[in-house]
Amino acid sequence: RCKESIFVSLSLFAAQRCRMNEDTGADYLTPWQLFECVDGGGVGVVESSRCSTCTEGSVVTSFNWPWQTHAVLKGSSLQKVDSSMADGHLSYFLGVIGMTGLTALLGVREKGHVVKGANQTMVVSGAAGACGSIAGQIGKLDGCVRVVGICGTEEKCRALVEDLGFSAAINYYYEDIPKRLKECCPDGIDVYFDNVGGVISDAVIAQMNNGSHVILCGQISQYNKDVPYPPPLSEETQKALQIKNITRERFMVLSYMSKADAALCELSRHVKSDAFCSMMKGGNIGKQIIKISE
Ligand code: NDP
Repeated sequence: RCKESIFVSLSLFAAQRCRMNEDTGADYLTPWQLFECVDGGGVGVVESSRCSTCTEGSVVTSFNWPWQTHAVLKGSSLQKVDSSMADGHLSYFLGVIGMTGLTALLGVREKGHVVKGANQTMVVSGAAGACGSIAGQIGKLDGCVRVVGICGTEEKCRALVEDLGFSAAINYYYEDIPKRLKECCPDGIDVYFDNVGGVISDAVIAQMNNGSHVILCGQISQYNKDVPYPPPLSEETQKALQIKNITRERFMVLSYMSKADAALCELSRHVKSDAFCSMMKGGNIGKQIIKISE
């Protein structure tokens, strides 16, 4: 057992909403129990240890880190990480060089069918969030000629275009989504990284090209509803998928862990080479973390 990790950062993520339900709707997520300490992704430094792998000073992460300033954790539940991959920014292991980055990169690679030189347009919903902000940048790096983000504030729209290299951004609160999609995606949509579902996704799918691809990453707009995952689609959207032969397979990052090490090295390289212009910038733009201590 590792004893007493000094706590550095905790992760906040959308699926935690599902853990507040009696049934999370996903077999890999357990519901939080009353009177139990809330837990989630965390990164910290081992303060003292009786474990041979996680020795004092090791930087470790876990998916089930209790929200406490100090915690006693089993060595077998911890993953040791190399802090040089994040240039010492340990919180990156909860974001771009962690599950968030893996979700974005592997989601695009496994389900997006992005081909360099194919003149493809990608749309990302929840684009200023943790996964979306990285997915759009991967889409651009992999060869999409146009990457359009959909998000909920002017500040986020500005950051997507000016800081993260998106081609355009649509504010779904104030703008007419179908009209703006037509303007921003004149050749239609070839790849859709879907984080939110609901009416935003209905509008995007309506403008997708024949043989295009939806990366079904998450459906955050539906998490307050008592429906199974993935939530049912409207009849019209279901029909559009069929008629246009659009693929929409569920993506689960945990199914691709054999590719995680290589993907994390690639993400680390991008961060170091500044291919990702601005990660962790602004209030809720990029991955949101809680810093407990130095
Ligand atoms: P974040 O919390 O970082 O960002 C999500 C963003 O979605 C919010 O900032 C908000 O921004 C937007 N949003 C929230 N509610 C709505 C709504 N009702 N309609 C439209 N937009 C909304 O989330 P993550 O990037 O961590 O997660 C994104 C998705 O990916 C989630 O659905 C999550 O469950 C999923 N996920 C899937 C994984 C997998 O293996 N498939 C792994 C990890 C995450 P705004 O201001 O723009 O509204």
